[in-house]
Amino acid sequence: MKKNVAILGSTGSIGTQALDVIDKNPAIFNVEVLTARNSSKLLIDQARKFKPSYVVITAEEKYCEVCDALEHLPIQILTGEEALKEVVCIDKVDIVLSALVGYSGLFPTISAIEAGKNIALANKETLVVAGELITSLARTRRVDIYPVDSEHSAIFQCLAGEAHNPIEKIYLTASGGPFRKKSFEELKSVTPKEALKHPNWDMGNKVTIDSASLMNKGLEAIEAKWLFGLTPEQIDVIVHPQSIIHSIVQFADSSMKAQMGLPDMRLPIQYALGFPSRLKADFPRFNFLEYPELSFEKPDAQKFKNLSLAFEAMKTGGNMPCILNAANEIAVDAFLNNKLGFLDMPVLIEKTMSKINFINHPSLDDYAATDAESRQYAKTLLSR
Ligand code: MN
Repeated sequence: MKKNVAILGSTGSIGTQALDVIDKNPAIFNVEVLTARNSSKLLIDQARKFKPSYVVITAEEKYCEVCDALEHLPIQILTGEEALKEVVCIDKVDIVLSALVGYSGLFPTISAIEAGKNIALANKETLVVAGELITSLARTRRVDIYPVDSEHSAIFQCLAGEAHNPIEKIYLTASGGPFRKKSFEELKSVTPKEALKHPNWDMGNKVTIDSASLMNKGLEAIEAKWLFGLTPEQIDVIVHPQSIIHSIVQFADSSMKAQMGLPDMRLPIQYALGFPSRLKADFPRFNFLEYPELSFEKPDAQKFKNLSLAFEAMKTGGNMPCILNAANEIAVDAFLNNKLGFLDMPVLIEKTMSKINFINHPSLDDYAATDAESRQYAKTLLSR
């Protein structure tokens, strides 16, 4: 029996790497659904190769192009945001890889959980925004959430066989990004192009900018809180520039388990899709003798204020992480379009966090409203 996979966001960085994993394991996986927002050409190529039953192109203006190109194939083609919620519910689907970017991943992921599908979660914003709601829904529906984020996959792998042993603490490792050695002064004038040059990982634009500002690690701390049921005090961040140790779990007896390997997103993707099996892979192996040293340092709180803003949002709880996330998405987009300086991103986020109404126990509608209000307010700050 093959595992039937639905990939939300198949043309992005995670989506294409997932298809690479599936392509190498044709006896194990079958692609049932592919979705893309806008990248019609790549989506068409992927559909011709993997022959899914369903394809979604969310951008309606690209619908005809995709239909024409796939006309003679037995593939159902859908369009619009709502179609994402439909295709995750299809009977045949066993696991949904949620690899959309940002807040847009939330609602399709909820639909998939409601339909009882297991989730391979690459979209960390889903848990950042609505972690309490998502994890409780997953428990009710008896759905497993397998982390795809490399740090969380590392922790998940370290927890294998430890079901009865509570976590004392986790250490999320951070590469430190391309600006680790830059001074505060120098950070004032860094460009999007410099920020997009990540030293170790090959990722999409949003997560690469988040990595440069360390917001990514802050979002990951919130993600870890929900995935592993931790308090903020149990989560620590340590900069590890070589990105060989992908994260660490510390137990009550002082023992620490770390998961390590060369930085390659295909491994956590494959572990999530193949769980509980470790599938054979020809990925390059880590060689200790090629790395004279693995080093560790404290993150610089002054240079990377986003990290402390995210911890603050996590400790406050309620809709605060949703506000943080929305403002960050606006800030990252503005930075990428040269409308905001690198060090102005945390300023915009902090102002939005202090302005938007706090809700201690938000409903799903509250999250949607908070997200919209936060974006709107953050945008007004940009136009000043
Ligand atoms: Mn990560």
